[in-house]
Amino acid sequence: MLNVAKFGGTSVANFAAMQNCANIVKDNANTKVVVVSASAGVTNLLVDIAHTAMTTEQTSAKIAQISDIQFAILHALKDPQEVSDKLTELLDSLKELALHEELLHRPDLKDALLSHGERLSSLLFSAVLKQNGLSASNFDVRKILRTDSEYGQAAPQLSEIKQAAQCLMLPELAKSVLVTQGFIGSDEHGNTTTLGRGGSDFTAALLAEALDAATCEIWTDVIGVYTTDPRITSAAKPLPELSFEEAAEMATFGAKVLHPATMEPALRQNIKVFVGSSKEPEKGGTWIVRDCKSEPAYRAITRRKDQVMVTVKTPKMMFAQGFLQKVFTIIAQHKLSVDLVTTSEISVSFTLDNPPNSVLQRLNRETIEELSQFCDVLMEDNYDLVTVVGNNMHSAAGVSSKIFTAISDYNLRMICYGANPHNMSFLVGNGDSTDVVKVLHKALFE
Ligand code: ASP
Ligand code: MG
Repeated sequence: MLNVAKFGGTSVANFAAMQNCANIVKDNANTKVVVVSASAGVTNLLVDIAHTAMTTEQTSAKIAQISDIQFAILHALKDPQEVSDKLTELLDSLKELALHEELLHRPDLKDALLSHGERLSSLLFSAVLKQNGLSASNFDVRKILRTDSEYGQAAPQLSEIKQAAQCLMLPELAKSVLVTQGFIGSDEHGNTTTLGRGGSDFTAALLAEALDAATCEIWTDVIGVYTTDPRITSAAKPLPELSFEEAAEMATFGAKVLHPATMEPALRQNIKVFVGSSKEPEKGGTWIVRDCKSEPAYRAITRRKDQVMVTVKTPKMMFAQGFLQKVFTIIAQHKLSVDLVTTSEISVSFTLDNPPNSVLQRLNRETIEELSQFCDVLMEDNYDLVTVVGNNMHSAAGVSSKIFTAISDYNLRMICYGANPHNMSFLVGNGDSTDVVKVLHKALFE
């Protein structure tokens, strides 16, 4: 009945927050693996260092901010001696990478730098657990989390991970709780890689899969998954349960509580996933399971900001074969993932996710140049994607009319409906998206 517990950045932001997490670990004897994110703010600071040209003073100021966060936790420990050398060692290696002159041009160095956030927080959290009377040790996830070498967005190698986890991690679980890092891994050459922003949830699910865990808990700063982002409307309600498919759709289309890839391992191994708040564990949370008690037509509304719409157009498309294939081959070669697609006789439009703080530049100049060689390319931004998530939406009567009636006052730039039973998506101007979500929430849930 193994449980893997993951604590997000705000849950390990400082000593008091870590103490709440320690109580949660103590309360469940099945929790033998703990995955942590970097302390809140640390990865953002590391991304700044890795991606912006800065003077030595500016870089040092950022490093000082990180040191302050981590030393404040260290000094709150009863026995800081135990980890202080290791902490200093990690901060020294962080400094060295931060000031490396090739940092801005070397994705491998960027990932090595980014990995320090999770390495620091996991070291400190293992000390907090020990102080709470648990036998705990800090485990370097890079020993088992094998990935490809796509720095910034590395893909896990499942069979290698499983084998290594069974060999190197499982036997240790009888002795102590292992506190390990989310978000990071290593490639076949032993170079450090990262899984993409927010990747710690994904790590937790991958480890749960590799270790045949029964459950995976994601502890964050909200009491579960809501019908929509409570910051958009206070009428949003927490959901007691969700199916794997619904949760995957919600995460893909912008629900911030879970990394989009998290549900894949859970689905493959039928691992129950829990989402709750480490500050208020008594309030319960959302259980994500294979078979839900109910399958409502509407479960939730999500929003994803900063979408780019690309339209490629060629007069040759009429009666021409292979145009779409050519376009999508280029897109795939540049590792872009397309969300909405519409086609007409001579053009195709698609949307791409283009988050401003992603480690990888998603849509780059080369992609556009390559497409421009055989068609006209038009790019439009300032769009948000609003998605209604539910069940049997493609076949239930009245679903689309209810949705369209609610938002008839807004201009929908693109609509995606019918291909997937679990969602209906619209591209709307970013100035409208808050209102669209509010109006839809009212019509569907209030
Ligand atoms: N620390 C990483 C990030 O901020 C991974 C995570 O928090 O899940 O993106
Ligand atoms: Mg996080």
